[in-house]
Amino acid sequence: MDDAYIALGSNIGDREAYLLRALKMFRKTGPVSLTGLSGIYQTAPVGYTEQEPFLNMVCRLRVSVGPFELLEMLLNIETALERKRTTRWGPRTIDLDMLLYGNEKIHAPLLTVPHPCMFERAFVLVPLRDVYPFETLEGASLTERIASCSDREGIVLYRSSQDAESLLNQAS
Ligand code: AMP
Repeated sequence: MDDAYIALGSNIGDREAYLLRALKMFRKTGPVSLTGLSGIYQTAPVGYTEQEPFLNMVCRLRVSVGPFELLEMLLNIETALERKRTTRWGPRTIDLDMLLYGNEKIHAPLLTVPHPCMFERAFVLVPLRDVYPFETLEGASLTERIASCSDREGIVLYRSSQDAESLLNQAS
């Protein structure tokens, strides 16, 4: 069994409902169990900025499948939640990224872990800090990494992790 950390993001329609639906799908998937939820953060779009703000969060999963099977599960959940691939960095109902899978380093055509952009994105690192049990990640403090991210000002707590968990339990 390994711990994996998944970043979730949505900026179309009922953004929070999409996040909760993805989390419910994790709960219903046998080989993974949901063991931690960050708060939900509203964040300004990065890259392609002419789009609505995102809601972002990170969850921790205890998984009994390998990283490639986990990736396939993520892609299946994105498809089930009406994810369309149009503009790169563009609007999406749901985006699921595998940030970390145990201590593995993977550089494969379909999967890079740790996720290649995660260390420059406060919208990933701020929620990750809620559920990651250590202050240091890959040799540097999470707080210092966040302080050097250019998007750190655009992040506002939208829902605490306790409130997100209650909402998820109501929705289940
Ligand atoms: P995106 O448009 O960000 O959802 O990119 C999805 C594609 O990125 C998938 O088809 C994956 O094959 C690839 N990918 C590479 N590394 C990762 C990762 N760590 N987590 C999720 N997708 C990844």
